[in-house]
Amino acid sequence: MIYYRYPVEKIGITSDYGYRNGILHAGLDLGWFDYQGENIYSIGSGEVIEKGFTSSQGNYVVIKHNDRDTSRYMHLKSSSVVNIGDIVSMGTLLGYMGTTGNSNGVHLHIEIKRDNEYIDPKSILYVYNDQIVGENTKVNYTLLYYDPVLVSPVVRDEELDQIIINASDLIIRKGPGTSFNKYTEFAKQNAIYNYYEVVENEGYLWYKIGEEAYVALVDNSLTVLDKKEENDNIENYKFEYTALETGNYKIKLNKGEKLIIL
Ligand SMILES: [Zn+2]
Repeated sequence: MIYYRYPVEKIGITSDYGYRNGILHAGLDLGWFDYQGENIYSIGSGEVIEKGFTSSQGNYVVIKHNDRDTSRYMHLKSSSVVNIGDIVSMGTLLGYMGTTGNSNGVHLHIEIKRDNEYIDPKSILYVYNDQIVGENTKVNYTLLYYDPVLVSPVVRDEELDQIIINASDLIIRKGPGTSFNKYTEFAKQNAIYNYYEVVENEGYLWYKIGEEAYVALVDNSLTVLDKKEENDNIENYKFEYTALETGNYKIKLNKGEKLIIL
């Protein structure tokens, strides 16, 4: 799973991906009232495979991220600052926002293809913590937010329910089930985590180790370290009887009374 990052710092959607009067707007328009040559960054790592200028795209640049995904950035103010063959990372500066080509205002038109088909950029772009989303965009669009839960290992505490992660490939998921997105690639092996809840789902026991963070007990992936039971305080009991001989005893309990046998 790659969490592609929106290519601008201030995210405002001015035109959505999708069909208009039978014509596909194959990308997402990102605009902001005071956009003026803002930085455009690569949404993920990859290689620059194309750049240039056409009358419709204006200055543009294309990044190939892997065998499936490419991203195309259009209407740049000037020629992209990267060159064909360059290797880029998520967040590498590609150029500056402009209004070259078929454009009527400073904005970025970004197109993403997966397996050679256009896809809605909103379906794979994530807003990171340090990015800003415009109010109208928040109201009108559902964006994905990259908000990894950082669940940290702890030390052994006998007062708490804890687990040891034995497996090296145990995935931390957002919920109790494999259909939930994973948050991190893997939990840390040989580390201790507190757990707060155990849920059964899809035939596995899922241990909740943080807010929206679950790991499954698969084979011997986990060792459960239950907390030490607190010794009950006998002095508070209203009733105590020590059997002098083995036998059957009849006990009458009044409403609200509790029978505790040790
Ligand atoms: Zn557009």
